[in-house]
Amino acid sequence: MRIAVASFQHETNTFSPRPTEYADYQQEDSWPGLLLGEEVCDVLAGLNIASEGFIQAARQQGHCIVPVNWCSAEPGGKVTDSTFEKIMQLVLNGIRQAGPIDALFLDLHGAMVSDSYDDGEGEVLRRVRAVFGPQLPVVASLDFHANLSAAFVEQVDAMAIYRTYPHLDMADTGARSLALLEQLQAEQISHKAFIQIPYLIPLSSQHTGSEPNVALFSALAELEATPGISNIEFAMGFPAADIPDSGASITVFGSDREQVEVVCQQFYARVLAAETHYSDNLMSTSQALKTAHNLHSHKPVVLADVQDNSGAGASSDTTGMLADLVAGGAQKAVIAVLTDPAAAVAAHRAGVGAVIDLALGGQSGVAELGPYNGRFEVLALGDGNFTCVGEMYAGCEVKIGPMALLKVVADNCDVQVMISTERYACTDLAVYSHLGIDPLEYALLVVKSTVHFRAAFEPISDHILSVAAPGLHPCQLGELNYQKLRSHVRLGPCGPLHIAATGQQ
Ligand SMILES: [Zn+2]
Repeated sequence: MRIAVASFQHETNTFSPRPTEYADYQQEDSWPGLLLGEEVCDVLAGLNIASEGFIQAARQQGHCIVPVNWCSAEPGGKVTDSTFEKIMQLVLNGIRQAGPIDALFLDLHGAMVSDSYDDGEGEVLRRVRAVFGPQLPVVASLDFHANLSAAFVEQVDAMAIYRTYPHLDMADTGARSLALLEQLQAEQISHKAFIQIPYLIPLSSQHTGSEPNVALFSALAELEATPGISNIEFAMGFPAADIPDSGASITVFGSDREQVEVVCQQFYARVLAAETHYSDNLMSTSQALKTAHNLHSHKPVVLADVQDNSGAGASSDTTGMLADLVAGGAQKAVIAVLTDPAAAVAAHRAGVGAVIDLALGGQSGVAELGPYNGRFEVLALGDGNFTCVGEMYAGCEVKIGPMALLKVVADNCDVQVMISTERYACTDLAVYSHLGIDPLEYALLVVKSTVHFRAAFEPISDHILSVAAPGLHPCQLGELNYQKLRSHVRLGPCGPLHIAATGQQ
């Protein structure tokens, strides 16, 4: 087969006021900036990214790849209309220029919202179909956090979704997409069933190393072996998106129409039965400090600032935990990473050893998420360029601009904070060595990440505590005022029932 490979990824947090612009796609962060043509193969080579997994698998099978583009912006607010149009034009023109093709692979996220389209990927598929017709085989890979619509599922011929969170299987999912495309060509995928789950699951409860997810994904694998079934895809959804299709869903593909429906209902029943097993482990910073103290751990205790995760669209500059750590007299604590470009400039101007006064962070524009006013000693400086070493991001070159390690000047506590220029969800230990420190020498490692950090931090810590401090990535869903979400969905496992206002569905 001659297969075009294109991409348009975004995880949109509609609660974030920060619009996602074209420049955000060009920007290198933990992943490369926008790639065109052969750059896709060259730059993604060896990385844990779906397109790379697909390309390698396709080449091994002797298929011809025509790379169109690859792009992903850091999660944030809605994709602006001009950005959406510009990237769609690039994707559609690129596929046209690829000449005659036998199939199209799309590397998507699944939770994109633009100014005009609540169902970003549904619109991507609609436009692809409008130009290339219903006959072109289209296979997509999607993120674990996809918010899928019936319209999207109807328009895609086959798809594969990551099955791990932290996402260790992104490249594997790309390779799985190639296998599905081959099954599609062999006419082994002719039917599909789709159903949405009637309760939202916050990201803080979605870790696939915890129950009930371990049991659910093992049940998925068992059911997938049913004759006539090709694959079962379970998206856990991205509930920080107030759109009709927010939340988890199941899609089943296969050759046996009846079995596809039956298996979909069987797995749906498993997911419904799992609802009471999801736990909300969120605690306040003071509870977490007390718990950590009582653990007497010889290894660092990780405190996850789950609601200020830039990897889920948050500003990564909230100061709630910093203030609480100082007030609580925390010892040997370091926060990674708080974004404040002005503070980074000030620290670099002042130099190592200098003491500076800062109104740190709190620049999101949300009134209650203000800055932390204090005096800091500059302990170390960095240019913000480092290469990831952990399993999830191995080989990725992070570029987050000038960084600094600051220490709060106070008698009662020992609290340090890493500053970056661009947002960075702390998911890799390389950020510590970049600033010349060893995470093992700290008692408390505060990370602005929800779950992805676990891949790198579980090997160095026996205790991970999830903390709900103020931030733009809400995990306490029952407290949110959803306006567009479809009716009769529970806001969190066993959470309050959302009833849409009259006039909505
Ligand atoms: Zn994800």
